[in-house]
Amino acid sequence: MAPDSRGTAPGTRPKVRILVVGGGYVGMYTALRLQRRLGHRLRSGEAEVVVVTPEPYMTYQPFLPEAAAGSLSPRHVVVPLRRVLKHCTIVIGEAERVDHAKRTATVTTLATGEDGTGALEIPYDEIVVAPGSVSRTLPVPGLADFGIGFKTVEEAIGLRNHVIEQMDIASATRDPAIRDAALTFVFVGGGYAGVEALAELEDMARYTSRYYHNIKPADLRWILVEATGRILPEVGETMGKYAVRELRGRNIDVRLDTRLESCEGRIAVLSDGSRFPTRTLVWTAGVRPAPLLAATDLPLTERGRIRCTAALSVDGAEHAWAAGDAASVPDLSSSEPGTETAPNAQHAVRQAKVLAENIVRALAGRPTEDYRYSHAGSVASLGLHKGVAHVYGRKLKGYPAWLMHRVYHLSRVPTFNRKARVLAEWTLAGLFKREIVSLGSLEHPRAEFALAAGGHAPVGRPRSEQPPGRTGGEEHRAHPEDNPPGEGPPRSSG
Ligand SMILES: Cc1cc2nc3c(=O)[nH]c(=O)nc-3n(C[C@H](O)[C@H](O)[C@H](O)COP(=O)(O)OP(=O)(O)OC[C@H]3O[C@@H](n4cnc5c(N)ncnc54)[C@H](O)[C@@H]3O)c2cc1C
Repeated sequence: MAPDSRGTAPGTRPKVRILVVGGGYVGMYTALRLQRRLGHRLRSGEAEVVVVTPEPYMTYQPFLPEAAAGSLSPRHVVVPLRRVLKHCTIVIGEAERVDHAKRTATVTTLATGEDGTGALEIPYDEIVVAPGSVSRTLPVPGLADFGIGFKTVEEAIGLRNHVIEQMDIASATRDPAIRDAALTFVFVGGGYAGVEALAELEDMARYTSRYYHNIKPADLRWILVEATGRILPEVGETMGKYAVRELRGRNIDVRLDTRLESCEGRIAVLSDGSRFPTRTLVWTAGVRPAPLLAATDLPLTERGRIRCTAALSVDGAEHAWAAGDAASVPDLSSSEPGTETAPNAQHAVRQAKVLAENIVRALAGRPTEDYRYSHAGSVASLGLHKGVAHVYGRKLKGYPAWLMHRVYHLSRVPTFNRKARVLAEWTLAGLFKREIVSLGSLEHPRAEFALAAGGHAPVGRPRSEQPPGRTGGEEHRAHPEDNPPGEGPPRSSG
């Protein structure tokens, strides 16, 4: 039974309930550490750790670009929370509000819509707020209609299917304008997510093109739009410049000091005046704190992150804790006062461990400790066998950097099970050829049966018509553009 105040029998409420909101880096690692440290109290029912998360898995986001490229299968870039957090209560749902004055979180689950009983009210004694961040969008005309982000496994796989589908469209169409738009891929934002996603997908598409009779690598047009004068700030200036050279050497059009002005009618218009008809617009221009934070009574900074102390407790609020992308944590390793720790996985993982230890200390009436960590540097993949790294002052590029990227992430991906699966997949991929198939039809599993049953196919719009990864259930006929004259309608939108 879900742990709501109405559903819990009198006397069964544990002495201490720790509510963790979010099952990402911070949420999973905090719960994992609490599970270890409070083991016998959890098993005896004296304490309870409840994790509220919309998905039953933690996503290892640094592997998303490899999942998009097909180097890793989607199941291996996620960690099943129920298996890892055996002694915690997992509630699949979303916290809509947190009323810390009353120590209650309002949570909607998949069932609340169906059973009509309304949202759960989960009372707690301690709360860990870790809902991470969402894509930070700007009011660019057309962006909401045609763009896609790159933060979730669904988006990564949707994008992979979409790119391959565009190659299929380009190969089949007789209209040069459709072909050009299908083979033009625009990415906005030159941080980790944008650069790695573009580099991996370009690599994958270039390889895939050798299996098309009428698409050459030079026909594919990849554009990276970055508003500042550099990319990959995480790896430092020199390595960032190297990354630009590397990408340009692969014929990728890197446009620095340039912004996306609009993308109405599927035409990307840039601030330098250029216009690119395109069916693919990937937006990775930064993140902002999760919307939930605005629905809490916890103190926020101007940028909307939860104001925390160096001990990861919420500033001025007792029994509330936060870390990761959603939290503004003082960076004690910086000589500049007022600096916050950056929103990245390195901090998220380490903060989670300190946070959990501090909760254990606080419950035992012991003083808490501050979080202090100097960023070790970063590694980034630029496609198969290509990368950049700047770690502990050492700069690496090309194959050694790529290898370091893989070794580092293999050591970091949670659980031995996942490490073994990832390693096995990389080994197999080294022995055999890349997967080049698009399984877009998985997004519409009922389409074939509905047609066979004589009904109206419950197709979503063809994915080429909509932002990749976004699938709708709406009834819609295929667009004539996707259906070259004389070639008949597509059977299903998959
Ligand atoms: C493509 C990509 C590549 C990256 N590569 C790197 C890298 O190489 N190195 C690095 O250091 N960092 C990298 N990062 C950044 C890193 O992944 C994040 O900084 C890290 O995930 C932050 O951890 P978090 O726990 O704060 O948030 P997340 O890991 O995003 O977890 C937040 C969780 O909260 C859940 N949630 C949201 N709202 C609610 C709600 N209302 N109720 C309940 N749950 C909610 C979300 O569904 C999610 O499960 C990358 C990010 C991306 C997108």
